Amino acid sequence: MSKQTKQDRLDAIKQQIIKDEVCPDLAKQATQLVFGDGNADASIVFIGEAPGKNEDLQGKPFVGAAGKFLDQMLEMIGLKRSDVYITNIVKYRPPNNRDPYPDEKQTFLPYLMDQIKAIGPKLVVTLGRHSLNCFLPDLQISQVHGQPKRFKGQVYLPLFHPAAALYNSSMKQTLIDDFAKIPVILKRI
Ligand code: URA
Repeated sequence: MSKQTKQDRLDAIKQQIIKDEVCPDLAKQATQLVFGDGNADASIVFIGEAPGKNEDLQGKPFVGAAGKFLDQMLEMIGLKRSDVYITNIVKYRPPNNRDPYPDEKQTFLPYLMDQIKAIGPKLVVTLGRHSLNCFLPDLQISQVHGQPKRFKGQVYLPLFHPAAALYNSSMKQTLIDDFAKIPVILKRI
């Protein structure tokens, strides 16, 4: 029998979410499941909050304005989307782009953990406070952004959310400066 690849494991987790009927109320209102995108063998996994309108329509995370900004920052450090893996905590678009509820984040968390385990990245980059606080609930993004944190053997880098930074020029520059540290942090892990 051929060996199961990381992509095979990711595909199985995606099917499990559907089979388990995770967050059926969200699923009912969404166009589709937005599971994740990119390279299953990546060293870096980026984790956002939940799909927005464009993501819901295209079935891929970070394809709207925030996604374009993320792509530009990746390019700045010499990476393409196909070099990294990108996903969200919550995999269905919350109605009217409201924040995901705590129970929705909690319900999706085991699948997100399985996704990370399947990929086994060197670095998990959390985008925004929801994503940071999923893994490190006691930390405040305003205090720890740009500082790598090791927890239970996994290194996390908390960053501001690109959508929040897009319309706030000082936050935007901070995010760009924090992002630029990624290659150095990766080398040190
Ligand atoms: N914001 C997110 O948190 N995730 C997306 O996929 C798009 C915007």
